Amino acid sequence: MFQKILIANRGEIALRVLRACKELGIQTVVVHSTADADAMHVRLADESVCIGPPPSRDSYLNIHQIVAACEITGADAVHPGYGFLSENAKFADILAAHNITFIGPSGDHIRIMGDKIEAKRTAKRLGIPVVPGSDGAVTEEKEAKRIAAGIGYPVIIKASAGGGGRGMKVARTEADLEVALQTARSEAGAAFGDDAVYIEKYLEKPRHIELQVFGDGAGRGVHFGERDCSLQRRHQKVWEEANSPALNAEERARIGGICASAVADLGYSGAGTIEFLYENGEFYFIEMNTRLQVEHPVTEAITGIDLVHEQIRVASGGGLSVRQEDIKFNGHAIECRINAEDPRTFTPSPGTITHFHTPGGLGIRVDSGVYSGYKIPPYYDSLIGKLIVHGRNRVECMMRLRRALDEFVVDGIKTTLPLFRDLVGNADIANGDYDIHWLEKYLAKGDEVANS
Ligand code: ADP
Repeated sequence: MFQKILIANRGEIALRVLRACKELGIQTVVVHSTADADAMHVRLADESVCIGPPPSRDSYLNIHQIVAACEITGADAVHPGYGFLSENAKFADILAAHNITFIGPSGDHIRIMGDKIEAKRTAKRLGIPVVPGSDGAVTEEKEAKRIAAGIGYPVIIKASAGGGGRGMKVARTEADLEVALQTARSEAGAAFGDDAVYIEKYLEKPRHIELQVFGDGAGRGVHFGERDCSLQRRHQKVWEEANSPALNAEERARIGGICASAVADLGYSGAGTIEFLYENGEFYFIEMNTRLQVEHPVTEAITGIDLVHEQIRVASGGGLSVRQEDIKFNGHAIECRINAEDPRTFTPSPGTITHFHTPGGLGIRVDSGVYSGYKIPPYYDSLIGKLIVHGRNRVECMMRLRRALDEFVVDGIKTTLPLFRDLVGNADIANGDYDIHWLEKYLAKGDEVANS
């Protein structure tokens, strides 16, 4: 087992990882920018190293500084959290070259899954169902038209190097296709420095359902069920649940089994998430994230398994603590992402939190790095905490969530808490009856009412 882990992240996830290390009796080092000297994870760590000024590229993305911090403190492993360097294959390679363990998959696996064309090809080869589309990159308009006619309109053009929901264009007719192809290519070139694009069938009303998987790096793979993350705004997840209101145990076991054997075949090591669009009972692979996800606590709530413990065990060579048959799904969990944002316009609202009071009681978990008197710096993303609620079934979970939202107090800044108080009383949400467009339509209706 590791002696000392360096946590290369900030905010709630840095604290989340720190807690797991403490439970396992592992020493912790955190790195931070000058803007985060007062952060909770810095206060609670055994050691901390300031690695640079506020902009991420000078601190949390600065590989040299982070490797130097490992050497100075004698850390033998790095946990990257999510975002920042968590899916940076070069970072994983550099750490390996320094005999420091990257708590995550190999640089090669990160590389394959970071290239969407390559990822889709690999998924298909491993028996994972994919969205019908082009076999690889498409450059010629004639070829694009032939492929689109073959799969049928509407189609979506996506950047191979894409991420964060950028670089996608929908074409509803052949007439739209030419412009869509041109714009997608030039936007991809400008945003990612790679103008390779591919075409796939555009699904009109899918849900976003993702499978949590783990590989032990030695040819064993398991799945921890799915999460439904259909409630999104601008491709950013807002509310996540496990299990999905749309799946039954049979479907879960079937798609879970496919995903578990895929990671086993790949020789994958550590945590991964295989993301699908789900429509009319069919799964369509869109991408695989090779790291811990923001929404992992809903999976922990229904399985009772600490996924960060598992990551650390696997990375240290200790293997997984569970076999597939040990993983049982118990009840229902929902996560609300609490952002420091205006709940209607979603503009960031940094500043000082004058009062912070979290709900408690059975089935409640709050993952957050903030406290009363904490000043939210303006440089980073606006997630300030996550409320995760567990109940024996979805109805109990929703009742408990409503109660927990009533207790939650964050004063001094604006947050998205009022949005969740609205959602928890909505009939479609109560019925689990929503797709990936539901939230944006709901918000647009609210704007109409407000402006009338
Ligand atoms: P990114 O890596 O940029 O997040 P994804 O491939 O995960 O890109 O897609 C992001 C979102 O775009 C999906 O959650 C979905 O809302 C939409 N999307 C992607 N592919 C399709 C498709 N074939 N049909 C309909 N919507 C899609």
